[in-house]
Amino acid sequence: MADYLISGGTLYVPEDGLTAQQLFASADGLTYDDFLILPGFIDFLTGEVDLTSALTRKITLKTPLISFPTDTVTEADMAIAMALMGVKKFEQGFITDPVVLSPSNTVGDVLEAKVRHGFSGIPITETGTMGSKLVGIVTSRDIDFLAEKDHTTLLSEVMTPRIELVVAPAGVTFEEANEILKRSKKGKLPVVNDHDELVAIIARTDLKKNRDYPLASKDSHKQLLCGAVVGTREDDKFRLDLLTQAGVDVIVLDSSQGNLVYQIAMVHYTKQKYPHLQVIGGNVVTAAQAKNLIDAGVDGLHVGMGCGSICITPQVMACGRIHGSAVYKVAEYARRFGVPIIADGGIQTLGHVVKALALGASTVMMGSLLAATAEASAEYFFSDGVPLKKYQGMGSLDAMEKSSSSQKRYFSEGDKVKFAQSISGSIQDKGFIQKFVPYLIAGIQHSCQDIGARSLSVLRSMMYSGELKFEKRTVSAQMEGGVHGLHSYEKRLY
Ligand code: IMP
Repeated sequence: MADYLISGGTLYVPEDGLTAQQLFASADGLTYDDFLILPGFIDFLTGEVDLTSALTRKITLKTPLISFPTDTVTEADMAIAMALMGVKKFEQGFITDPVVLSPSNTVGDVLEAKVRHGFSGIPITETGTMGSKLVGIVTSRDIDFLAEKDHTTLLSEVMTPRIELVVAPAGVTFEEANEILKRSKKGKLPVVNDHDELVAIIARTDLKKNRDYPLASKDSHKQLLCGAVVGTREDDKFRLDLLTQAGVDVIVLDSSQGNLVYQIAMVHYTKQKYPHLQVIGGNVVTAAQAKNLIDAGVDGLHVGMGCGSICITPQVMACGRIHGSAVYKVAEYARRFGVPIIADGGIQTLGHVVKALALGASTVMMGSLLAATAEASAEYFFSDGVPLKKYQGMGSLDAMEKSSSSQKRYFSEGDKVKFAQSISGSIQDKGFIQKFVPYLIAGIQHSCQDIGARSLSVLRSMMYSGELKFEKRTVSAQMEGGVHGLHSYEKRLY
């Protein structure tokens, strides 16, 4: 290590680099490309770096990555894929509200359930409801070879009867039930009470997912965590009720400028009606904005205004904040109240993810980086043979004309004239996020190793203690830090 000897024999290491406080002391706003993080000391392996980080006061994720909830990026496929590397019915431990049929239902009903829900192992109870006596199970093996004319056949004739079923007793632990399922080699394990009434089932496919996706974010019942965006108008209160009935874990109040009376009122309303529901507010970019939402009771904050890849807010509204400064300033204030922040938008590279985390963000939200992956909701189209997907901001005219949630985010009630705060464009295909997200995860671990931080909480405490050092980058330094002097090259990242 770089120790220096001076007369008198004292060893010292000269001060080098800037603390985060020094970096952001001047009034100039900085963003991710304006600085680098100085390397630290490595005495651990990359795989040991713990990426666990808080989404809200009470919800912790195993990886700090979130996808932007908009129609061209995040619908069910993206949400499930992201949660596995949380939509509750998709992957669970004990499924307590499965599809159930009765012996007098038909094979056609099973086929319909298969189309609608994508599975065919269906428990059969006397009345076709949970809590009624288990009488059998129907799986695709029972109906595979039936002809179309047999679709009216009653399930009582084709089901595997109760007597041949392996079941688990109510009260069984998740681990014990997994063992029974492994031994029985069946696809579904019904759980029954002393009266042989069905109380839950466990699916083999979920067991496999537990094994294949150890990083999945789950609650204490092994259910994947699930979040949803809610607006701040009267009809959103009904949506809130439905979401809580469906078991939502966290709601996000999403507004382009979150420091407004409607959002504050909705935070109060939600926290009063559902005290345990986690509420994320935003977007904010200053401590003063954050204060109002924290005082109202939010459990997490979205930070970012004017940094998104599709965003033209700074141009048209003259309002917003340079993103690195916004993340640092809001995180530094919110941490005093135990409120984690999401650095939302402006992430162009893996390095930007790490820089956002090093400035105090607990999680990072990405739009353009995940848009045009196979799981992103937009359809592929081709231009000059190049596979592309549409990506648009919620405040683009296209999005506002299509979606009421976009309008609510960017267009106030009573506004007569619509004006765009973002554009609509396209992004080249990036393949599956199953490949891309592991690249991000491994990259964050590598980077933390270079920095000398064994975990994201260590990274943040190094930053706040001043141990983590930064250096500003001039424009020429930024050019030096990119590829230069080559005639041609291909940039393959993973
Ligand atoms: P990206 O990751 O740089 O593409 O930025 C995505 C983020 O941009 C989202 O998470 C939103 O916070 C933000 N955003 C989405 N739509 C708009 C808009 O219309 N104007 C400004 N910002 C937007």
